[in-house]
Amino acid sequence: MSNTGEQFKNIIAHSKEYGFIFPSSEIYDGLGAVYDYGQFGVELKNNIKNYWWKSMVQLHENIVGIDSAIFMHPTVWKASGHVDAFNDPLVDNKDSKKRYRADVLIEDYIAKIEGKIKKEVDKATKRFGDSFDEKQFRETNQRVLDNQKKIEDIEQKLKTFLEESDLESLKKLIEDLGIACPISGSKNWTDVRQFNLMFSTQMGSVSDDTDVIYLRPETAQGIYVNFLNVQKTGRMKIPFGIAQIGKAFRNEIVARQFIFRMREFEQMEMQFFIKPGDDKKWYEYWKEQRIKWHHALGIPKSKYRFHDHLKMAHYANAASDIEFEFPFGFKELEGIHSRTDFDLKAHEEHSNKKLQYFDAEENKNYVPYVVETSIGLDRMFLSVLSSSFEKEQLEGGNTRDVLHFPPALAPIKVAVLPLTKKDGLPDKARSIMKQLMLKHNCHYEEKDSIGKRYRRQDAIGTPYCITIDHETLEKDTVTLRNRDTMEQERISIAEMEKIVDEKVSMNNLLNQLSV
Ligand code: ATP
Repeated sequence: MSNTGEQFKNIIAHSKEYGFIFPSSEIYDGLGAVYDYGQFGVELKNNIKNYWWKSMVQLHENIVGIDSAIFMHPTVWKASGHVDAFNDPLVDNKDSKKRYRADVLIEDYIAKIEGKIKKEVDKATKRFGDSFDEKQFRETNQRVLDNQKKIEDIEQKLKTFLEESDLESLKKLIEDLGIACPISGSKNWTDVRQFNLMFSTQMGSVSDDTDVIYLRPETAQGIYVNFLNVQKTGRMKIPFGIAQIGKAFRNEIVARQFIFRMREFEQMEMQFFIKPGDDKKWYEYWKEQRIKWHHALGIPKSKYRFHDHLKMAHYANAASDIEFEFPFGFKELEGIHSRTDFDLKAHEEHSNKKLQYFDAEENKNYVPYVVETSIGLDRMFLSVLSSSFEKEQLEGGNTRDVLHFPPALAPIKVAVLPLTKKDGLPDKARSIMKQLMLKHNCHYEEKDSIGKRYRRQDAIGTPYCITIDHETLEKDTVTLRNRDTMEQERISIAEMEKIVDEKVSMNNLLNQLSV
């Protein structure tokens, strides 16, 4: 197995062993692409939600939140285009019987060519050292140029075929490129078919067509249908935003990447309503804001990149993904979409209700344009988890498993550990625990050697351990151990709370997002 494959396997095993993520209904052998969050997973997830919510709703005077229902009137999904256009083009390999998204097979092929270009660039960087001009090299090296041209040709074809739902040409493209099934190695493909991703169910007791309702495939529509409710009751003035965190459901076909692609997942979406014509400005603004939000976490910047869309979804006039370098490569983490007035106009048509805003400055009514930021909470979780996980080599040949979470996101902020179970140390430790637990999620533990207890806290990503020893009883001081450096400092109990507050505060992140 490749190093990255090994790393991903370790992360999945670790997250199960330490109570972050369990397969759903595991005692019945699980349910495909559905997962449960365990005792530490739910804390990390809540902290991520909190970070997002505070950055959107608390730090912006003109953004408010809602919580709309998962079930919606079925016409919502007709209006949004999901009934007719929320499809994935699927293709099966006849030998392995494995099913793939046709566009993903082609994108993976493109990624391979990109890999070849990167190899050329890396080779040249080594050869030329400091004097290397990458831009010039990319513009002049024939092999790079040929490969770049190849990529552009394929991308152009892919875009056209997807837009025109030309499934025959899509299949032919797969065949012409000689793409083989990664499992069977064969090029024996079925025809490409469209597959709608929405789950449907029935409301009420009569099973007739009109009762079919859908589990929402995105949270955004709950915001659009409440646009006027919020605007009027909140006296909101354009530009303003509505944020929402909630579950979404998609009957994903290719669902083999842990919590990267789930059938039930959570989204954090914000729809920003603007004056028509201001879309470019706000699209750029939100791209910048969102990447800042990610960078504030301190995860290396090189793990993020923008990928501007060639093929727009049915609702967008500009779209960009923030991609993250997951253990299996760069993949979409968040989308920023300029959705124009597509959704509100469609809801006006289907509902026969006006969804317009009266702009007092312009003295006219209009249907606002929308710029959306949409991030999968579970994918965000995976990005934090995978970039934090380390099997660290220690001196003396030992290793430790450690999760270097940003302290503000860590499930447990402080572990309170009496050195021994004797001499009144547990009582003292309990009183410290009582003080700190009012503000933070803390963990008390007196079993096992102190070394073993530190390792367990490292493995769940607790940034600080406070140890109570005999000196504590004499001098009212404790040791504060840092998870990442493993160094300990002695601090007075009088200052302890303030020191911990400062180190684990969410404000350390929010302060970086000046708006
Ligand atoms: P992909 O191309 O990976 O299927 P998408 O472009 O369909 O994603 P959007 O519709 O833009 O995704 O959804 C917004 C965000 O929701 C995505 O950036 C992603 O983080 C998250 N998301 C979408 N589908 C899933 C899923 N099946 N499981 C987990 N998260 C998802």
